[in-house]
This record gives sequence, structure tokens and C-alpha cells, in this order.
Amino acid sequence: MAATFAPLDAATTFGPATPAPRGPTSPTPSWTPAEIVRRFATTAPRYTSYPTAPHFRQDFDVDAVRRAYAAARGPLGLYVHVPFCERRCLYCGCHVEVARDRGLGSAYVDTLLRELDLQATLTAVSADRPLSVVALGGGTPTWLAPADLARLCAGIRSRLPDHPGCEWSIEVDPRSLDDAGAETLCQLGFTRYSLGVQDLDPAVQRAIGRPQPAAQVERIARMLAASAPRDGLNFDLMYGLPNQTVESIRATVRQAVAMGPTRFAVFGYAHVPWLRPHQRGMERTPLPDDAARLELLWAAREELMGHGYLPLGLDHYALPSDPLALAAKQGRLGRNFMGYTDRGQAKGVDGQALDVDLLAIGASAIAQVGDAFAANTTDRALWAERVRSGAPAWARAHLRSDDDKRRGAVITALLCDLRVDKSAWTARFADQGQGAFDVAFAEELRALGPFFEAGLLRQDTESLAITGHGWLVARNVAAAFDRFLDGAKARYSRTV
Ligand code: SF4
Repeated sequence: MAATFAPLDAATTFGPATPAPRGPTSPTPSWTPAEIVRRFATTAPRYTSYPTAPHFRQDFDVDAVRRAYAAARGPLGLYVHVPFCERRCLYCGCHVEVARDRGLGSAYVDTLLRELDLQATLTAVSADRPLSVVALGGGTPTWLAPADLARLCAGIRSRLPDHPGCEWSIEVDPRSLDDAGAETLCQLGFTRYSLGVQDLDPAVQRAIGRPQPAAQVERIARMLAASAPRDGLNFDLMYGLPNQTVESIRATVRQAVAMGPTRFAVFGYAHVPWLRPHQRGMERTPLPDDAARLELLWAAREELMGHGYLPLGLDHYALPSDPLALAAKQGRLGRNFMGYTDRGQAKGVDGQALDVDLLAIGASAIAQVGDAFAANTTDRALWAERVRSGAPAWARAHLRSDDDKRRGAVITALLCDLRVDKSAWTARFADQGQGAFDVAFAEELRALGPFFEAGLLRQDTESLAITGHGWLVARNVAAAFDRFLDGAKARYSRTV
């Protein structure tokens, strides 16, 4: 499907080639983006899991989580969390440990590999269940010294077989790499590099505490892209930052596009100083208000689509050749703790599509294995102590019920495809025939009445679809299906 760009027209969102339903409850959208944001955009989770991590429990049944790991038979994935950063960016919302001494990294890698040994005893590991994705995130994985990074990669490869097409991805802070470091990365066999760019304007960079010359970003990007397979470079950008203007964000996007990434993530800055007190530093320069944030988002979107990038899900843009764009076109875009992925599912040994069981190692890492979500403690010392003692470092967990899976499938479909196929949902979750979806979610559909009336949602017997500019508030639509969401919405970020 070709996406033709029409300014301020989100109906061009790229996705599975299925027409949006039309029916008596489907008036033509007439609300402008600004009106939609004013009326509907509140706070809502990003839904990289359902339920979301704040609802995992400390008083979980450890044996039940172990049983879930033992029963899991999906293809394997691995997430590795490296929490260290050399300094803290003012906007950062991640679990981060500021450390200048890279010597810490050696012991950290030792513990990671010990934890991987332990994980391999909890779930079945065999050549029939090779890794389909390995993702190093943080923090800053490239904070690790090249020798430690090499040892980590070799240690993973020697412990778990990987599929020949396995994606090896790493988050890269261009400031933490010199040319020699970039060369090391190239030799380690990564197939995807994700560069934290955020903004290339010096005034914005000063306001967010992340000075990062564009020339340095470009040099590292070009070195890494030359070693990765085609379509192996993506950039993260951010809107809603102090000193950002429509002109400056357009210039950032144009500069970034010229550096050759095939994929962008454009995230809205989440200002949550009550959770991350260091973000008070962002208030030294005025932050854009909601209307200005929308203009910034729109300008970035317009530039990217004007350069041929297709919008995916809520906040991603990719060239048509990029694996994420292909996955979206084929209706197999997935979402998990790594965000959007084309590796959320893989073929099992019998050829059936199975959800990837995502193991996770490192302080604060979160796993999704079988029916279990399990989050490691964020306390690095405690994490190391637990691993040394031979025990899982889980601090919080959740075992998904059948109801969680039913609702999670709806939420994932809304955020990935902007559409729920009611027949597919019924075939998977209900033993009743046509209409089962409408019966199961009658209350939720009623609560979404204002979205239908505004033309942001449509439905017929076959599907429920977000239409027009409704993608702007897709998280708010998804939240209607969240039975865990209580009055604590303030803990989540604004949807635009
Ligand atoms: S480099 Fe990334 S993880 Fe580290 S402080 Fe900056 S934003 Fe946070």
C-alpha cells in the first residue's frame, strides 16, 4: 500500500491492507487534530505489555512463574539491560545508573552471563528453539568497554543457539563511541543499530543536557550503517522539548534523514518530575504546551512522510523496504517490552506462529515468557547478589489470566494495526460465533461512545477500527479495554 501524504491527514497511516469499516455508527471525521487532542488526549500507558508493569505484584508466586518458564515453548528472544550512562540527560525517563568508571562493566557482564546460565535452566533451550532476536538496551549498552561488549556477545552465542536470521540489535549513544568503538561494534555482528538522537539543534541539546554534535552522529551512523545489513539503522527523535520550534524540528528531521536511517521512532517527551525529579532541570527553559507539542509532532511527521517514510502504529516511521514496514503491511507488527517489533512472533518447529518468549537479563530488565511477566529488581547490588546465590532476580511479576490475554490482544491490535479483527479475535478467544466480541466488550464499546461520535472509531460486524486522526488518541482508546487502570492515570505520560 502506498502512503500518500496529506498534511494533517492521519488517514494515511500504514497498516494491513484492510479497509476501515463503514456503517451507521461511522460519521465522517470532522474534528481537527487540535480539537481531538484537547477533547480526548489525556494520560494513558504506552502498553508495551498488558497489564502494564506498574500492575505487576511484589507478592507473586515464584513457583508459578518458574512453571510458566518451564512450560513455555515459543521461539526465544533475549533482552539485555545495561543500566549505565556516563551522565544523565535531563529528559531521561529510564532506569539509569550514572557511572564514569567503565571498570564496573566487567563484573556486570560476568553477572549477566551467570544470570543467562540460570535462565537457561528455567526454560527449555535447544537447537529447535533458537534465538530469533537479541536486543541490548539501557541505559547505554555502548557504555561498556569494547572488550566487555565482545565478551557479552560471545557469551550469549555460546550459551543459546541463534537462528541464522536472528536480529542482533543494540541501542547506541553516539557520544559514547569513538571510531575504534564503532569499529568494534561492526565486528560483533550486530544487524540493527538504534541511535539515540532526539534533536540535532544545539539550543535544544543545551536545554535537555545532551550536547551531541551532528557531525559526530553522522560519522558514527555512517560507519555503523556500512557494516549492518541494508535497513539496519534507526534513529530515535523526540518532540515536546524546550527550545524546539516547528522550523527547528523540521531541520532536525531533514538532517537526520540525510544520514540514512530506514526507520525513525518519534516519541513525545514525557514530563513526569514527580517520578523523575532530575526532570525539574527541563523546566529552566519553558516547555511547549499541548498545542505546541501537536504542531511539533505534526511537523516531524510531515517531514518524514514527505521523505517517503510510512507511519507505523503510534510513533514509528519506516521506509517501505524496512522490516518493520513490511511487517505492518503483512499485519504482523508486534509490540512487547522492546516496543514495536517484527519479531514478536516466529515460526515454531511445527510451522505455527508462536509468540516469542522474551528472556531478560540485567538489573530492572523485564521478561515475557509464556504466561509470565517478570521484572528484575532495579537495585543493581541486590540483582547481583540474587544471581550469585543462584536465584532469579525477579522483584515483581504477573501471571496472565485468560482475560488478560483476551484484552491484551485487543490492545495490541489497536496499537499496532489501529484495528481489531473481530472474527480473528473470536476464533482465538471465544467459543461463541458472530457477535462474541461485541458481547464480551459491550461495556467498553459503550464507554467509547464519544470516540464513535467524533468519527475517530468505526465498527461493523467484522472489525473495530481507529480512523481519521484517531491514531493521535489510540492509547486512550486502548485504555478503555484495560481493567487494571484505576484512578492513577497521572502516573502515565500524556498521549500527545
Ligand atoms: S543516554 Fe539515554 S538512558 Fe542514558 S541518561 Fe540519556 S536518555 Fe537516559
